Amino acid sequence: MNNEALLYKLLRITNQINQLIARSTSTSELFLKACQLLTEGSDYSLAWIGLWDEIQTQAQPIAKAGSKVGFLDEILLNKKNYSLELESSITALQSGKAVIHHHDRKNPVNFLRLHTTTNSDFFVTASFPMHHAGQVLGVLNVYSQQPGTLTQADEVSLFQQLADDLAFALISLEARRQQASLNIATETMRDGLLITNTHGNIVYANPAMGEMLNFELSEIPGRSLFSFMPPEQSDRFVEQQLPALLDAGQFKSEIELLSNDGRPLFVEMTAAVVYSNNGEPVNLVVNLRDTTHRKLFEHRLLALNRLTTELAQIYNPKELFSMILHACEELLQADASAVGIVDSTVENIIEIHAHKVSDDYHRQIVEEFSRLPGKENLLYSPILCSEDIARESIDADFKSRLIAAGIRSIMLLPIHYQGSPLGILGLYFSTLRHFDETTQQLGITATHTLAITLQNARLYQSEHSQRQFAEAIVQATEVLNSSLDLDQVLDQILEQTMRVVPCQSVNMMLVEGNQASVVRQLHRVSDEKIERVAGGTILPLTVNTLEKMLKTGGPILIPDTHQEPDWKTLETSAWIRSYASAPLQIRQQVIGFLNVNSDQPNFFSEETTRRLQAFASHAAAALHNARLYRDLQRYSFDLEDRVQERTAELSVAKNRIEAILESVPDAVFVLESNENLLESNQAGKYLLEQAESGPTELFSHDFMKRLKSGKLPDEKAIVEVNGRIYQALSSSLPLPDQQSGLVVVFRDVTRFQELDSMKTQFVSDVSHELRTPLANLSLYLDLLSNEGDDLRRERYQATLRRETDRLTQLIEDLLTISRLESNRISFFIKEIDVFELLKDLVEDRTPMALQRNLQLEFNPPENLPQALVDPRLLTQVISNILTNALNYTQPNGLIKLTANTALSDGKQWVTISVSDSGEGILPEELPHIFERFYRGSASRKTNAPGTGLGLAISQEILGRMGGKISVVSEPGQGSAFTIWMPAMP
Ligand code: ADP
Repeated sequence: MNNEALLYKLLRITNQINQLIARSTSTSELFLKACQLLTEGSDYSLAWIGLWDEIQTQAQPIAKAGSKVGFLDEILLNKKNYSLELESSITALQSGKAVIHHHDRKNPVNFLRLHTTTNSDFFVTASFPMHHAGQVLGVLNVYSQQPGTLTQADEVSLFQQLADDLAFALISLEARRQQASLNIATETMRDGLLITNTHGNIVYANPAMGEMLNFELSEIPGRSLFSFMPPEQSDRFVEQQLPALLDAGQFKSEIELLSNDGRPLFVEMTAAVVYSNNGEPVNLVVNLRDTTHRKLFEHRLLALNRLTTELAQIYNPKELFSMILHACEELLQADASAVGIVDSTVENIIEIHAHKVSDDYHRQIVEEFSRLPGKENLLYSPILCSEDIARESIDADFKSRLIAAGIRSIMLLPIHYQGSPLGILGLYFSTLRHFDETTQQLGITATHTLAITLQNARLYQSEHSQRQFAEAIVQATEVLNSSLDLDQVLDQILEQTMRVVPCQSVNMMLVEGNQASVVRQLHRVSDEKIERVAGGTILPLTVNTLEKMLKTGGPILIPDTHQEPDWKTLETSAWIRSYASAPLQIRQQVIGFLNVNSDQPNFFSEETTRRLQAFASHAAAALHNARLYRDLQRYSFDLEDRVQERTAELSVAKNRIEAILESVPDAVFVLESNENLLESNQAGKYLLEQAESGPTELFSHDFMKRLKSGKLPDEKAIVEVNGRIYQALSSSLPLPDQQSGLVVVFRDVTRFQELDSMKTQFVSDVSHELRTPLANLSLYLDLLSNEGDDLRRERYQATLRRETDRLTQLIEDLLTISRLESNRISFFIKEIDVFELLKDLVEDRTPMALQRNLQLEFNPPENLPQALVDPRLLTQVISNILTNALNYTQPNGLIKLTANTALSDGKQWVTISVSDSGEGILPEELPHIFERFYRGSASRKTNAPGTGLGLAISQEILGRMGGKISVVSEPGQGSAFTIWMPAMP
């Protein structure tokens, strides 16, 4: 065929195919026709159309035609082998571009490969992708054995056009097919279907919709969807549901409709918005499913549920059954009902609860119907309905009796709980009844409720007995815990075990090392009487029963000791036929065993063992507590002893401290942080009494502030109370309640202050006294060195001697003072005869008195008692006083020396008086004459040498010897000094 003819023919074919496309209703027919047209009487020996097969990942042919059709089948069969043709079709499908191969015989490689793999002798193979709307839907393949085909661009483009037309045909036919099946679906579907505009005006309604609303189908379009709704629903739809639908694009809700005859319809509405090409909502597609029936059923089920809830509160089985039977009758409009409970073997009805029918009738009905052929497995079949028992082939006699008793229709429903049968519910009707599916379903549902209730009741019963046991345990443990006395606890454990686990004898073994010994045993003699039996049995822990419990920590049961090879028969336990034991454990450690015994075989059961175990755990705890308590008591006794010892120690320490505090001369105060006075010692109390304005005088705010700041010690915390000076010291003191208090000590430092000032005075006095003679010495030494005149020299020398003497005297006196003060003078007190001492002294001084023209009189009495003094020091004192008298009395004066005895301060004294007729001492001078370095007017008048230390030394010496010195003087009348010395008793 020449090119032109080929093109022309091709053009004709494509026209024909296009006409076919417009008319065709089936894609497979169309495609087949197209392939046939292309290959009939043309140069194309094979044409086929393939669609993409994802699973096989190849172009799956849906139409093929041509002389070489066999070739296609062959390459498809041998798909494992390489096929250039199939590969091209896939490439076209995937790339969207035509794939054309000219198999040039001059290109042997390509040609040979083609021919050795597929035995094809095509000159040209071409695959054209079928485009539609940017997608490749399939591939049109055309193979030719004629060289020269598909070499012209027009030819190729005609084929590509054809391929695209076929794609369009595929789409439009598919759309048409879908439309058709949609129509069928909408026409036949059971749900109602409405298409409305966006305002809810109906444009289409399917037949189911008409039926549902009870309208002629033609009456619905044009009306509003809302017109089928009760007002409330209509408002809700307009205000909420329609906007929600338009907003979200779809919507699902339960709504209410009204049918033409006013019946309420509950429908489940699923609606979706249909959008125009430019995205504007144009239509609503509303699917309405009638759920009225289901709703009503739901209502009834809800009622049933409520009933179940109510039933769950009732635990009395009788009441329970009566309620449930009532409810079942009401639910199914039955006239009588009964329930029969089967035993665990599911063979016998052991319990019947019947309402308005006799127990026996129910039992017999079940039996009779079970005899019917095919009904034997009544307990396992879902339901047995007899709409008219007259028609059943059961015992005729029984049948007529039933009918006479008003039973005509029967429903027998097995009751199952989690797969196991519990019993059979019978519902009895006095009239002929038709049991439709819903009724049957309701009956079955009712039995479910019944099953649950029944199970609850059973659980309750077992729970009830469990609770009784729990109560017994609670009471028993209360008793156990009422005592902590180990001995009592042991008794109570056994007594209470007997209560919780009835038995003939009970004992407790305690583990000691590798054996267990019976520590306490009780035996029931009669119903009322329980006796304590001597225990003492000791078993090694290797005994099978004990070993097992030690290992598992669980109880053991030997229902019959005669059947139990593990049972070890002892002489004392030969009577035991049934035995149970539970280990007593504390923190996973077995400390003993609680054993119960009976002489009856099989007396104890698993339940007994469980109870025993439960009780044993309480008992172990009680035992443990009692032991702990015992240990605690021991400890607390120890503790008490220790506390007493410690208390005694503390109180001794406290007394000691108090005694010390009371005896210290310092005033000690304890204050709270708020300055409240808590305590004080004796000296403190005295000080407070002295303070005119009480504590505030001692603890002024300002003073306390300074004291607390810790600055006071440096500042010399000095307080003056009633003329005495106190130094205050403080330190903080922890008080109870985490408070901190303050201890303040006031020390009387008056004397120290005086001494201090005296010391200062003394130093200044001494330096003064020393300066005068030293100045004189230096002056006269100068004079002496320049003086040629002998007389003057003598006079100067005399002055120098006098001054030297004075200085010597001064130093002597100072040394004496210093020695006295530092206690470096030893006193040798002895009994002396004062008379003898005075006599010697007077003799000594008489020449001096004569020299000064003074009369020295000595009139001592006889029989003077002896004085207790140091004679040397006393001599020094008298000598001082006598020297003063001689110094400060004018010539012609009289000095009298006397001695006497006196009684003063309840003591016996020996006194020596030295009186003179001198100037006397001015009254204002009298208080000072005993002060160190004090020299009065007399000394100035007489110009007598002296240091002003004589009287001070004398007073000090006498004081040290237990004596004293006194003076009586009047100016112009002379003075009288008296020395007082302790008399020898
Ligand atoms: P001194 O005699 O060295 O001055 P004393 O201590 O012995 O020192 O005496 C102190 C003072 O007491 C004397 O300076 C004197 O004024 C006065 N005094 C002591 N004895 C007499 C006395 N017999 N008559 C008058 N005045 C006396």
